[in-house]
Amino acid sequence: MSDQKRKLAVGNWKMNGLLDDLEQVTALIAAHPQPQSEMALCLPATLIAAASTLAAGSMLWIGAQDCHAAVSGAHTGDLSAAMLHDAGARYVILGHSERRGDHGETDAMVAAKGTAALAENMTAIICIGETLGEREAGRTLDVVLGQLDASVPEACQGLWNLSERLAIAYEPVWAIGTGRTPTLDQIAEVHDALRGRLVARLGPTAGPVPLLYGGSVKPANAAEIFALGNVNGALVGGASLKAADFAQIVEALNAA
Ligand code: PEP
Repeated sequence: MSDQKRKLAVGNWKMNGLLDDLEQVTALIAAHPQPQSEMALCLPATLIAAASTLAAGSMLWIGAQDCHAAVSGAHTGDLSAAMLHDAGARYVILGHSERRGDHGETDAMVAAKGTAALAENMTAIICIGETLGEREAGRTLDVVLGQLDASVPEACQGLWNLSERLAIAYEPVWAIGTGRTPTLDQIAEVHDALRGRLVARLGPTAGPVPLLYGGSVKPANAAEIFALGNVNGALVGGASLKAADFAQIVEALNAA
C-alpha cells in the first residue's frame, strides 16, 4: 500500500448496541492509543453523544450511519448532519446497501446527503457495491462506477482536503454479513477502477481518498485484503462489535 494514502478503519454497529455496550468503545480506545491509521466507529444515533465523550482526546473518532439531506425541518424521525455533528459525530456512512434496500435510497439521495455532510465538515463514507446477480451477469464495474459517479456529490469538486472529507466503501451486497468475500483479484479490479474514475473526475486531490473494502472483513482475512494496492482500509460490520476483533483489524491496517 502506498504511503501517501490515508488509512482508515471504520466500524459499523448498524442497529446494535445499548449503553452497556459502550464498554466496547472504552476497550477499543485502551487497545489502540496510537494507531498509524485512522479509526472510527459509526454507532446508532442513541450512543453518539456518550461515545463522543468517552473518545474525546483519544485516537478514536465517532460517526453516524446516515443523515438527512436537509439542515432542519419537518422530517419526523430523521437527523440532520448538523445534529449528528453537534452530538460529536465526525464521520457519516451514506448509501449503505441496507439503507438503499430498506429505505429506497437512490444515488441522487446519497449525493444530497453527502453535500449536507460536507457542509457540516463531516467526512462522508459513501458506500457502493453490486448484487450477486449483477456480478454473475458480468456487470460489476458498470454498476459500481455508475454508483460512484452519481453518489459522490459535486461539492467534492475543488475541495483541497478531499481525502479528509471523503471515503469510498466498496461493499459487494452479497458479501455483507454472509461470511463470503470476493477473491483478492476481484477486490483489486474494482478498487483500481474506482481510483481511476475518482481521479479522472475530481483530479489529483482524489489520489489519496481512502478506498475501503467492506463485506465480511475479520481478523483472519484483513491483512491479505489490506495488502492490495488500492485498498486503504475497511468498513467492518459484525467484527466491529467486539473491541478485540476490531482492534486486530486495525492492527493489520497499521501494519500494511
Ligand atoms: C457492513 O455493515 O458494512 C459490513 C461490511 O458488514 P459485515 O462486515 O458484517 O459484512
